[in-house]
Amino acid sequence: MSDAETAPGDIDRETLVDALETYGEDAQIEQTIEECAELIQALYGDDREAVVDELADVRIMVAQLSLLVGEDDVDRRVGEKLARLEQRLEGAHDSARTRGESA
Ligand SMILES: [Mg+2]
Repeated sequence: MSDAETAPGDIDRETLVDALETYGEDAQIEQTIEECAELIQALYGDDREAVVDELADVRIMVAQLSLLVGEDDVDRRVGEKLARLEQRLEGAHDSARTRGESA
């Protein structure tokens, strides 16, 4: 499958576009909210399969909304936020090293 056929999370783009066109943007936004709520509920429980199931649902919905708002913009922000996370992790690792040296 080529890059043009895939979407965020390597999910088939054609299926995502079909879902957006078939159900409409408002319905898919509402579905995303519902799936996020289901994931939150699953995370409060101890059923791993339920978490996997809801993560899959959320991933599919996030991929649809990413197409809706512009996946290039989302990808750019993901890159920026990952870079910021890496900086924070470097800081955390430096702090841990400093504490380890002084202990
Ligand atoms: Mg669900």
